[in-house]
Amino acid sequence: MSVLPAPTVRLGDSFARTLPELALPWQAEAAPEPRLLALNEPLAAGLGLDAAALRTPEGLQLLVGTGVPDGANPVAQAYAGHQFGGFTPRLGDGRALLLGELTGPDGALRDLHLKGSGRTPFARGGDGLAAVGPMLREYLVAEAMHALGIPTTRSLAVVATGRAVRRETLLPGAVLARVASSHLRVGTFQYARTSGDDALLRRLADYAIERHGVPVADAENRYLALFESVLAAQASLVARWMLVGFVHGVMNTDNMTISGETIDYGPCAFMEAFDPDTVYSSIDEGGRYRYRNQPLAAEWNLARLAEALLPLFAEDTQEAIALAEGALSRFRPLYDAAWSDGMRAKLGLPSDVDEAVVAGLVEDLLALLQADHVDHTSFYRRLAEAARGAAEPARLLFLDLVGFDAWLARWRALGPDGAAMDRVNPLYIPRNHLVEEALDAATAGDLGPFEALAAVLAAPFDERPGLERYAAPAPQDFGATFRTFCGT
Ligand code: AMP
Ligand code: MG
Repeated sequence: MSVLPAPTVRLGDSFARTLPELALPWQAEAAPEPRLLALNEPLAAGLGLDAAALRTPEGLQLLVGTGVPDGANPVAQAYAGHQFGGFTPRLGDGRALLLGELTGPDGALRDLHLKGSGRTPFARGGDGLAAVGPMLREYLVAEAMHALGIPTTRSLAVVATGRAVRRETLLPGAVLARVASSHLRVGTFQYARTSGDDALLRRLADYAIERHGVPVADAENRYLALFESVLAAQASLVARWMLVGFVHGVMNTDNMTISGETIDYGPCAFMEAFDPDTVYSSIDEGGRYRYRNQPLAAEWNLARLAEALLPLFAEDTQEAIALAEGALSRFRPLYDAAWSDGMRAKLGLPSDVDEAVVAGLVEDLLALLQADHVDHTSFYRRLAEAARGAAEPARLLFLDLVGFDAWLARWRALGPDGAAMDRVNPLYIPRNHLVEEALDAATAGDLGPFEALAAVLAAPFDERPGLERYAAPAPQDFGATFRTFCGT
Protein backbone atom coordinates (compact mmCIF):
# COMPACT_ATOMS: atom_id res chain seq x y z
CA MET A 1 0.00 0.00 0.00
CA SER A 2 1.40 3.41 -0.91
CA VAL A 3 1.51 5.78 2.01
CA LEU A 4 1.73 9.44 1.02
CA PRO A 5 2.94 12.11 3.42
CA ALA A 6 0.18 14.64 4.07
CA PRO A 7 1.58 17.49 1.97
CA THR A 8 1.53 15.28 -1.12
CA VAL A 9 -2.06 14.12 -0.61
CA ARG A 10 -3.98 14.37 -3.86
CA LEU A 11 -7.49 15.73 -3.63
CA GLY A 12 -9.87 15.35 -6.54
CA ASP A 13 -12.65 17.79 -7.32
CA SER A 14 -15.15 15.69 -9.24
CA PHE A 15 -18.08 17.18 -7.32
CA ALA A 16 -17.00 20.78 -7.96
CA ARG A 17 -16.24 20.11 -11.61
CA THR A 18 -19.41 18.16 -12.34
CA LEU A 19 -21.76 20.34 -10.33
CA PRO A 20 -20.32 23.87 -10.23
CA GLU A 21 -23.80 25.27 -9.49
CA LEU A 22 -23.67 23.43 -6.14
CA ALA A 23 -20.06 24.21 -5.28
CA LEU A 24 -18.87 27.57 -4.07
CA PRO A 25 -15.06 27.84 -4.07
CA TRP A 26 -14.06 28.93 -0.60
CA GLN A 27 -11.23 28.89 1.89
CA ALA A 28 -10.85 27.99 5.52
CA GLU A 29 -10.27 30.69 8.09
CA ALA A 30 -6.82 30.84 9.61
CA ALA A 31 -6.31 28.89 12.83
CA PRO A 32 -3.98 30.90 15.11
CA GLU A 33 -2.56 27.92 16.97
CA PRO A 34 -3.51 24.52 15.59
CA ARG A 35 -3.12 21.65 18.03
CA LEU A 36 -4.05 18.05 17.30
CA LEU A 37 -6.60 16.66 19.76
CA ALA A 38 -7.52 13.39 18.06
CA LEU A 39 -6.20 11.50 15.05
CA ASN A 40 -7.74 8.31 13.73
CA GLU A 41 -4.64 6.38 12.73
CA PRO A 42 -6.40 3.21 11.50
CA LEU A 43 -8.68 5.29 9.29
CA ALA A 44 -5.74 7.35 7.99
CA ALA A 45 -3.90 4.15 7.09
CA GLY A 46 -7.00 2.77 5.36
CA LEU A 47 -7.12 5.92 3.24
CA GLY A 48 -3.44 5.66 2.33
CA LEU A 49 -2.56 8.69 4.47
CA ASP A 50 0.59 8.79 6.56
CA ALA A 51 -0.42 9.50 10.16
CA ALA A 52 3.06 10.79 11.05
CA ALA A 53 2.84 13.34 8.23
CA LEU A 54 -0.62 14.42 9.40
CA ARG A 55 0.93 15.25 12.79
CA THR A 56 3.44 17.69 11.28
CA PRO A 57 2.68 21.43 11.03
CA GLU A 58 1.91 20.91 7.31
CA GLY A 59 -0.38 18.03 8.19
CA LEU A 60 -2.28 20.18 10.69
CA GLN A 61 -2.61 22.90 8.04
CA LEU A 62 -4.33 20.33 5.83
CA LEU A 63 -6.60 19.20 8.67
CA VAL A 64 -7.81 22.75 9.35
CA GLY A 65 -7.97 23.59 5.64
CA THR A 66 -5.42 26.41 5.59
CA GLY A 67 -2.80 24.46 3.67
CA VAL A 68 -4.33 22.37 0.91
CA PRO A 69 -2.34 20.49 -1.71
CA ASP A 70 -1.76 21.91 -5.18
CA GLY A 71 -4.71 21.31 -7.43
CA ALA A 72 -7.22 21.09 -4.57
CA ASN A 73 -10.36 23.13 -5.00
CA PRO A 74 -12.15 23.45 -1.63
CA VAL A 75 -15.81 24.34 -1.86
CA ALA A 76 -18.80 25.03 0.34
CA GLN A 77 -21.63 22.83 -0.89
CA ALA A 78 -25.08 24.21 -1.58
CA TYR A 79 -28.13 22.37 -0.37
CA ALA A 80 -31.68 23.05 0.75
CA GLY A 81 -33.53 21.35 3.55
CA HIS A 82 -36.71 20.73 5.45
CA GLN A 83 -35.85 21.57 9.04
CA PHE A 84 -38.47 20.27 11.49
CA GLY A 85 -40.91 20.24 8.59
CA GLY A 86 -40.29 23.77 7.30
CA PHE A 87 -38.50 24.22 3.97
CA THR A 88 -35.44 26.46 3.55
CA PRO A 89 -34.42 26.63 -0.11
CA ARG A 90 -30.85 27.72 0.64
CA LEU A 91 -28.94 26.21 3.54
CA GLY A 92 -25.55 24.93 2.41
CA ASP A 93 -22.28 24.53 4.28
CA GLY A 94 -22.31 27.53 6.61
CA ARG A 95 -19.29 26.40 8.58
CA ALA A 96 -17.98 23.48 6.56
CA LEU A 97 -15.85 22.86 3.49
CA LEU A 98 -15.41 19.99 1.11
CA LEU A 99 -11.62 19.95 0.72
CA GLY A 100 -11.84 17.40 -2.05
CA GLU A 101 -11.99 13.69 -2.79
CA LEU A 102 -9.42 11.15 -1.70
CA THR A 103 -8.87 8.01 -3.71
CA GLY A 104 -8.06 5.26 -1.25
CA PRO A 105 -5.99 2.15 -1.91
CA ASP A 106 -9.31 0.41 -2.63
CA GLY A 107 -9.91 2.82 -5.53
CA ALA A 108 -13.06 4.29 -3.94
CA LEU A 109 -13.58 8.08 -3.79
CA ARG A 110 -14.18 9.58 -0.38
CA ASP A 111 -14.88 13.17 0.59
CA LEU A 112 -12.46 14.87 2.92
CA HIS A 113 -14.62 17.45 4.64
CA LEU A 114 -14.10 19.98 7.41
CA LYS A 115 -16.55 21.27 9.97
CA GLY A 116 -15.88 24.44 11.96
CA SER A 117 -13.54 25.94 9.34
CA GLY A 118 -15.02 29.44 9.31
CA ARG A 119 -17.92 31.39 7.83
CA THR A 120 -18.96 30.81 4.25
CA PRO A 121 -21.54 32.71 2.18
CA PHE A 122 -24.06 30.12 3.48
CA ALA A 123 -23.41 31.05 7.12
CA ARG A 124 -26.47 33.32 7.52
CA GLY A 125 -26.30 34.46 11.17
CA GLY A 126 -23.80 31.81 12.27
CA ASP A 127 -20.18 32.40 13.18
CA GLY A 128 -18.90 29.53 11.03
CA LEU A 129 -17.11 28.01 13.97
CA ALA A 130 -17.34 24.94 16.17
CA ALA A 131 -16.27 24.27 19.74
CA VAL A 132 -13.95 21.51 20.90
CA GLY A 133 -16.70 19.64 22.79
CA PRO A 134 -19.18 19.14 19.94
CA MET A 135 -16.43 18.26 17.44
CA LEU A 136 -14.98 15.63 19.80
CA ARG A 137 -18.53 14.40 20.34
CA GLU A 138 -19.01 13.87 16.59
CA TYR A 139 -15.58 12.22 16.39
CA LEU A 140 -16.43 9.84 19.22
CA VAL A 141 -20.01 8.93 18.33
CA ALA A 142 -19.32 8.46 14.61
CA GLU A 143 -16.46 6.10 15.37
CA ALA A 144 -18.60 4.27 17.92
CA MET A 145 -21.27 3.81 15.25
CA HIS A 146 -18.66 2.48 12.85
CA ALA A 147 -17.44 -0.01 15.45
CA LEU A 148 -21.07 -1.10 15.93
CA GLY A 149 -21.17 -1.89 12.22
CA ILE A 150 -23.58 0.96 11.41
CA PRO A 151 -22.94 2.95 8.20
CA THR A 152 -21.62 6.40 9.06
CA THR A 153 -19.33 9.21 8.05
CA ARG A 154 -15.94 8.63 9.69
CA SER A 155 -13.86 10.89 11.87
CA LEU A 156 -10.29 11.50 10.78
CA ALA A 157 -9.16 14.19 13.20
CA VAL A 158 -10.07 17.01 15.53
CA VAL A 159 -7.70 19.96 15.67
CA ALA A 160 -8.07 22.75 18.22
CA THR A 161 -7.70 26.08 16.44
CA GLY A 162 -6.45 28.24 19.31
CA ARG A 163 -9.41 30.56 18.64
CA ALA A 164 -12.19 31.09 21.15
CA VAL A 165 -15.79 30.47 20.11
CA ARG A 166 -18.62 32.39 21.72
CA ARG A 167 -21.54 30.23 22.82
CA GLU A 168 -23.18 30.72 26.25
CA THR A 169 -19.61 31.13 27.39
CA LEU A 170 -16.30 31.41 25.55
CA LEU A 171 -15.17 27.96 24.48
CA PRO A 172 -12.06 26.66 22.73
CA GLY A 173 -12.63 26.26 18.99
CA ALA A 174 -11.89 23.20 16.85
CA VAL A 175 -12.16 21.80 13.35
CA LEU A 176 -13.35 18.26 12.67
CA ALA A 177 -11.98 16.50 9.59
CA ARG A 178 -14.42 13.84 8.46
CA VAL A 179 -14.57 11.36 5.65
CA ALA A 180 -17.69 10.19 3.82
CA SER A 181 -18.49 8.22 0.71
CA SER A 182 -20.09 11.51 -0.35
CA HIS A 183 -21.89 14.47 1.15
CA LEU A 184 -24.83 14.23 -1.23
CA ARG A 185 -27.98 14.71 0.81
CA VAL A 186 -31.71 14.69 0.24
CA GLY A 187 -31.34 18.46 0.58
CA THR A 188 -28.84 18.55 -2.29
CA PHE A 189 -31.55 17.21 -4.60
CA GLN A 190 -34.11 19.61 -3.14
CA TYR A 191 -31.74 22.48 -3.95
CA ALA A 192 -31.29 21.34 -7.54
CA ARG A 193 -35.03 20.83 -7.98
CA THR A 194 -35.87 24.22 -6.49
CA SER A 195 -33.45 25.88 -8.93
CA GLY A 196 -35.86 24.83 -11.69
CA ASP A 197 -32.92 23.60 -13.79
CA ASP A 198 -33.83 20.03 -14.76
CA ALA A 199 -30.51 19.55 -16.53
CA LEU A 200 -28.71 20.27 -13.25
CA LEU A 201 -31.01 17.86 -11.41
CA ARG A 202 -30.23 15.16 -13.99
CA ARG A 203 -26.49 15.84 -13.77
CA LEU A 204 -26.68 15.55 -9.98
CA ALA A 205 -28.61 12.28 -10.19
CA ASP A 206 -26.15 10.88 -12.75
CA TYR A 207 -23.25 11.89 -10.50
CA ALA A 208 -24.89 10.17 -7.51
CA ILE A 209 -25.50 7.01 -9.54
CA GLU A 210 -21.89 6.85 -10.64
CA ARG A 211 -20.39 7.91 -7.31
CA HIS A 212 -22.35 5.33 -5.33
CA GLY A 213 -22.27 2.56 -7.90
CA VAL A 214 -26.06 2.31 -8.09
CA PRO A 215 -26.79 -0.72 -10.29
CA VAL A 216 -28.65 0.80 -13.22
CA ALA A 217 -27.46 -1.38 -16.11
CA ASP A 218 -30.62 -3.50 -16.04
CA ALA A 219 -32.95 -0.85 -14.66
CA GLU A 220 -35.90 0.29 -16.73
CA ASN A 221 -35.68 3.72 -15.15
CA ARG A 222 -32.26 4.70 -13.82
CA TYR A 223 -33.54 7.55 -11.66
CA LEU A 224 -36.15 5.36 -10.05
CA ALA A 225 -33.35 2.83 -9.42
CA LEU A 226 -31.38 5.60 -7.69
CA PHE A 227 -34.37 6.47 -5.52
CA GLU A 228 -34.97 2.81 -4.66
CA SER A 229 -31.35 2.35 -3.66
CA VAL A 230 -31.49 5.38 -1.31
CA LEU A 231 -34.76 4.12 0.12
CA ALA A 232 -33.34 0.65 0.78
CA ALA A 233 -30.16 2.07 2.33
CA GLN A 234 -32.13 4.38 4.62
CA ALA A 235 -34.63 1.68 5.66
CA SER A 236 -31.71 -0.51 6.69
CA LEU A 237 -29.84 2.36 8.37
CA VAL A 238 -32.74 3.55 10.50
CA ALA A 239 -33.53 -0.03 11.55
CA ARG A 240 -29.91 -0.30 12.73
CA TRP A 241 -30.32 2.90 14.74
CA MET A 242 -33.51 1.59 16.34
CA LEU A 243 -31.95 -1.75 17.25
CA VAL A 244 -29.09 -0.07 19.07
CA GLY A 245 -31.21 2.69 20.64
CA PHE A 246 -29.68 5.60 18.74
CA VAL A 247 -31.66 8.83 18.59
CA HIS A 248 -30.29 11.07 15.82
CA GLY A 249 -32.15 14.11 17.06
CA VAL A 250 -32.20 16.24 13.92
CA MET A 251 -33.37 14.17 10.97
CA ASN A 252 -33.85 17.15 8.69
CA THR A 253 -33.58 16.47 4.96
CA ASP A 254 -30.20 18.22 4.87
CA ASN A 255 -28.96 15.65 7.39
CA MET A 256 -30.00 12.57 5.40
CA THR A 257 -27.46 11.14 2.99
CA ILE A 258 -27.94 9.50 -0.37
CA SER A 259 -25.28 6.93 0.58
CA GLY A 260 -27.16 5.65 3.65
CA GLU A 261 -24.40 6.79 6.00
CA THR A 262 -25.35 8.42 9.29
CA ILE A 263 -24.33 12.07 9.15
CA ASP A 264 -24.19 15.13 11.42
CA TYR A 265 -23.90 14.12 15.02
CA GLY A 266 -25.40 17.17 16.68
CA PRO A 267 -28.01 16.58 19.35
CA CYS A 268 -27.83 12.79 19.02
CA ALA A 269 -27.80 10.45 22.02
CA PHE A 270 -28.26 6.80 22.91
CA MET A 271 -31.39 5.78 24.75
CA GLU A 272 -30.81 4.26 28.16
CA ALA A 273 -34.10 3.05 29.73
CA PHE A 274 -36.28 1.73 26.92
CA ASP A 275 -38.94 4.31 26.10
CA PRO A 276 -40.24 4.88 22.57
CA ASP A 277 -40.88 8.55 23.35
CA THR A 278 -37.25 9.26 24.18
CA VAL A 279 -36.14 12.65 22.88
CA TYR A 280 -32.98 14.48 23.90
CA SER A 281 -32.67 17.52 21.68
CA SER A 282 -33.44 20.77 23.44
CA ILE A 283 -34.91 22.26 20.25
CA ASP A 284 -37.13 19.27 19.38
CA GLU A 285 -40.02 20.56 21.43
CA GLY A 286 -42.74 18.60 19.65
CA GLY A 287 -40.72 15.39 19.78
CA ARG A 288 -40.75 15.16 15.97
CA TYR A 289 -37.53 13.14 15.98
CA ARG A 290 -38.17 11.06 19.11
CA TYR A 291 -36.93 7.46 19.07
CA ARG A 292 -40.08 5.83 17.77
CA ASN A 293 -40.69 8.47 15.10
CA GLN A 294 -37.40 7.89 13.31
CA PRO A 295 -38.71 5.41 10.71
CA LEU A 296 -41.61 7.79 9.97
CA ALA A 297 -39.24 10.74 9.70
CA ALA A 298 -37.04 8.80 7.29
CA GLU A 299 -40.05 7.87 5.17
CA TRP A 300 -41.19 11.51 5.17
CA ASN A 301 -37.73 12.64 4.05
CA LEU A 302 -37.73 10.03 1.30
CA ALA A 303 -41.06 11.39 0.08
CA ARG A 304 -39.32 14.79 -0.19
CA LEU A 305 -36.53 13.16 -2.20
CA ALA A 306 -39.09 11.55 -4.50
CA GLU A 307 -40.74 14.96 -5.02
CA ALA A 308 -37.39 16.44 -5.94
CA LEU A 309 -36.74 13.65 -8.45
CA LEU A 310 -40.20 13.68 -10.07
CA PRO A 311 -39.15 15.38 -13.32
CA LEU A 312 -36.58 12.61 -13.84
CA PHE A 313 -38.98 9.73 -13.18
CA ALA A 314 -41.25 10.51 -16.15
CA GLU A 315 -42.22 13.42 -18.38
CA ASP A 316 -45.85 13.00 -17.46
CA THR A 317 -46.37 14.22 -13.88
CA GLN A 318 -49.12 11.74 -13.05
CA GLU A 319 -46.97 8.89 -14.27
CA ALA A 320 -44.00 10.22 -12.26
CA ILE A 321 -46.12 10.44 -9.11
CA ALA A 322 -47.40 6.88 -9.58
CA LEU A 323 -43.83 5.63 -9.92
CA ALA A 324 -42.76 7.56 -6.82
CA GLU A 325 -45.66 6.22 -4.78
CA GLY A 326 -44.97 2.67 -5.89
CA ALA A 327 -41.35 2.97 -4.81
CA LEU A 328 -42.20 4.69 -1.52
CA SER A 329 -44.61 1.93 -0.59
CA ARG A 330 -41.61 -0.37 -0.31
CA PHE A 331 -40.14 1.57 2.61
CA ARG A 332 -42.29 0.06 5.34
CA PRO A 333 -41.86 -3.59 4.34
CA LEU A 334 -38.10 -3.05 3.95
CA TYR A 335 -37.84 -1.31 7.30
CA ASP A 336 -40.03 -3.91 9.03
CA ALA A 337 -37.94 -6.76 7.62
CA ALA A 338 -34.67 -5.12 8.73
CA TRP A 339 -36.07 -4.44 12.18
CA SER A 340 -37.48 -7.93 12.71
CA ASP A 341 -34.35 -9.66 11.36
CA GLY A 342 -32.36 -7.49 13.77
CA MET A 343 -34.62 -8.28 16.72
CA ARG A 344 -34.45 -11.98 15.92
CA ALA A 345 -30.65 -11.69 16.10
CA LYS A 346 -30.73 -9.63 19.32
CA LEU A 347 -32.86 -12.37 20.88
CA GLY A 348 -30.57 -15.10 19.55
CA LEU A 349 -33.41 -16.92 17.86
CA PRO A 350 -32.79 -19.46 15.11
CA SER A 351 -33.99 -18.67 11.59
CA ASP A 352 -36.62 -21.43 11.65
CA VAL A 353 -38.63 -19.75 14.40
CA ASP A 354 -41.80 -18.42 12.82
CA GLU A 355 -41.89 -14.71 11.97
CA ALA A 356 -45.16 -14.17 13.84
CA VAL A 357 -43.79 -15.86 16.96
CA VAL A 358 -40.79 -13.50 16.97
CA ALA A 359 -43.05 -10.50 16.41
CA GLY A 360 -45.25 -11.47 19.36
CA LEU A 361 -42.26 -11.99 21.63
CA VAL A 362 -40.76 -8.64 20.64
CA GLU A 363 -43.97 -6.76 21.23
CA ASP A 364 -44.44 -8.26 24.68
CA LEU A 365 -40.79 -7.76 25.61
CA LEU A 366 -40.79 -4.09 24.64
CA ALA A 367 -43.87 -3.51 26.80
CA LEU A 368 -42.10 -5.12 29.77
CA LEU A 369 -38.90 -3.12 29.19
CA GLN A 370 -40.83 0.12 28.96
CA ALA A 371 -43.00 -0.51 32.00
CA ASP A 372 -39.97 -1.24 34.21
CA HIS A 373 -37.61 1.38 32.65
CA VAL A 374 -35.06 -1.30 31.79
CA ASP A 375 -31.76 -0.24 30.23
CA HIS A 376 -32.00 -1.02 26.50
CA THR A 377 -28.34 -1.97 26.06
CA SER A 378 -27.35 -4.01 29.11
CA PHE A 379 -30.63 -5.95 29.06
CA TYR A 380 -29.72 -7.97 25.97
CA ARG A 381 -26.30 -8.93 27.37
CA ARG A 382 -27.95 -10.12 30.56
CA LEU A 383 -30.51 -11.97 28.50
CA ALA A 384 -27.67 -13.82 26.77
CA GLU A 385 -26.60 -15.03 30.20
CA ALA A 386 -30.15 -16.31 30.67
CA ALA A 387 -29.77 -18.22 27.41
CA ARG A 388 -26.75 -19.88 29.01
CA GLY A 389 -28.76 -20.79 32.11
CA ALA A 390 -28.22 -17.80 34.46
CA ALA A 391 -31.52 -15.93 34.49
CA GLU A 392 -30.98 -13.92 37.68
CA PRO A 393 -28.98 -11.00 36.19
CA ALA A 394 -31.81 -10.30 33.73
CA ARG A 395 -34.57 -10.93 36.30
CA LEU A 396 -33.00 -8.36 38.62
CA LEU A 397 -33.88 -5.62 36.11
CA PHE A 398 -37.63 -6.17 36.47
CA LEU A 399 -40.26 -5.35 39.03
CA ASP A 400 -42.92 -7.27 37.12
CA LEU A 401 -41.32 -10.67 37.72
CA VAL A 402 -44.47 -12.61 36.96
CA GLY A 403 -44.66 -10.95 33.56
CA PHE A 404 -40.96 -11.31 32.80
CA ASP A 405 -40.76 -14.94 33.94
CA ALA A 406 -43.65 -15.84 31.67
CA TRP A 407 -41.91 -14.11 28.76
CA LEU A 408 -38.61 -15.79 29.61
CA ALA A 409 -40.19 -19.24 29.50
CA ARG A 410 -41.68 -18.62 26.04
CA TRP A 411 -38.34 -17.30 24.76
CA ARG A 412 -36.23 -20.09 26.26
CA ALA A 413 -38.46 -22.73 24.71
CA LEU A 414 -37.28 -21.50 21.30
CA GLY A 415 -33.63 -22.40 21.97
CA PRO A 416 -31.86 -19.01 21.96
CA ASP A 417 -28.10 -18.91 21.28
CA GLY A 418 -26.30 -16.78 23.91
CA ALA A 419 -22.98 -16.60 22.07
CA ALA A 420 -24.71 -15.35 18.92
CA MET A 421 -26.48 -12.70 21.02
CA ASP A 422 -23.17 -11.42 22.39
CA ARG A 423 -21.94 -10.89 18.84
CA VAL A 424 -24.79 -8.50 17.97
CA ASN A 425 -25.67 -6.84 21.29
CA PRO A 426 -23.07 -4.27 22.30
CA LEU A 427 -21.83 -4.02 25.84
CA TYR A 428 -20.28 -0.57 25.42
CA ILE A 429 -22.11 2.33 23.75
CA PRO A 430 -21.41 6.08 24.02
CA ARG A 431 -23.54 6.52 27.11
CA ASN A 432 -24.50 10.13 27.53
CA HIS A 433 -22.98 10.61 30.98
CA LEU A 434 -19.66 9.13 29.81
CA VAL A 435 -19.61 11.31 26.70
CA GLU A 436 -20.38 14.44 28.70
CA GLU A 437 -17.72 13.59 31.25
CA ALA A 438 -15.12 13.02 28.50
CA LEU A 439 -16.02 16.24 26.65
CA ASP A 440 -16.05 18.36 29.80
CA ALA A 441 -12.57 17.09 30.69
CA ALA A 442 -11.31 17.64 27.12
CA THR A 443 -12.69 21.19 27.06
CA ALA A 444 -10.80 21.83 30.30
CA GLY A 445 -7.62 20.44 28.71
CA ASP A 446 -7.56 16.80 29.87
CA LEU A 447 -7.91 14.38 26.95
CA GLY A 448 -7.48 11.28 29.14
CA PRO A 449 -11.18 10.40 29.62
CA PHE A 450 -11.90 11.02 25.91
CA GLU A 451 -9.09 8.73 24.80
CA ALA A 452 -10.08 6.04 27.28
CA LEU A 453 -13.71 6.16 26.15
CA ALA A 454 -12.74 6.08 22.47
CA ALA A 455 -10.65 2.98 23.10
CA VAL A 456 -13.52 1.23 24.92
CA LEU A 457 -15.99 2.06 22.13
CA ALA A 458 -13.66 0.72 19.44
CA ALA A 459 -14.54 -2.85 20.49
CA PRO A 460 -18.16 -2.61 21.66
CA PHE A 461 -18.97 -6.31 21.75
CA ASP A 462 -15.88 -7.63 23.59
CA GLU A 463 -16.22 -7.72 27.35
CA ARG A 464 -12.97 -6.69 29.06
CA PRO A 465 -12.27 -6.77 32.79
CA GLY A 466 -12.03 -3.41 34.50
CA LEU A 467 -14.48 -1.69 32.15
CA GLU A 468 -17.64 -2.29 34.20
CA ARG A 469 -18.15 1.45 34.61
CA TYR A 470 -18.46 1.86 30.85
CA ALA A 471 -21.16 -0.81 30.60
CA ALA A 472 -23.33 0.57 33.38
CA PRO A 473 -26.34 2.88 32.88
CA ALA A 474 -26.13 6.51 33.92
CA PRO A 475 -26.48 7.31 37.60
CA GLN A 476 -30.12 8.04 38.52
CA ASP A 477 -29.58 11.77 38.90
CA PHE A 478 -28.17 12.11 35.36
CA GLY A 479 -30.72 10.54 33.01
CA ALA A 480 -33.96 12.45 33.46
CA THR A 481 -32.65 15.95 32.88
CA PHE A 482 -30.16 15.19 30.10
CA ARG A 483 -30.61 17.35 27.00
CA THR A 484 -28.50 17.76 23.89
CA PHE A 485 -27.98 20.95 21.93
CA CYS A 486 -28.12 21.61 18.22
CA GLY A 487 -26.07 24.00 16.09
CA THR A 488 -23.25 23.87 18.57
P1 AMP B 1 -27.20 21.27 11.15
O1 AMP B 1 -28.65 21.14 11.49
O2 AMP B 1 -26.27 21.36 12.32
O3 AMP B 1 -26.77 20.21 10.20
O4 AMP B 1 -27.00 22.68 10.42
C1 AMP B 1 -27.99 23.26 9.62
C2 AMP B 1 -27.45 24.44 8.86
O5 AMP B 1 -26.93 25.44 9.73
C3 AMP B 1 -26.33 24.12 7.90
O6 AMP B 1 -26.51 24.92 6.76
C4 AMP B 1 -25.09 24.52 8.67
O7 AMP B 1 -24.02 24.81 7.82
C5 AMP B 1 -25.57 25.74 9.40
N1 AMP B 1 -24.81 26.03 10.62
C6 AMP B 1 -24.86 25.36 11.80
N2 AMP B 1 -24.04 25.94 12.72
C7 AMP B 1 -23.44 27.00 12.11
C8 AMP B 1 -22.49 28.00 12.51
N3 AMP B 1 -21.98 28.02 13.75
N4 AMP B 1 -22.13 28.91 11.59
C9 AMP B 1 -22.62 28.92 10.36
N5 AMP B 1 -23.53 28.02 9.91
C10 AMP B 1 -23.93 27.06 10.77
MG1 MG C 1 -26.23 19.27 8.83
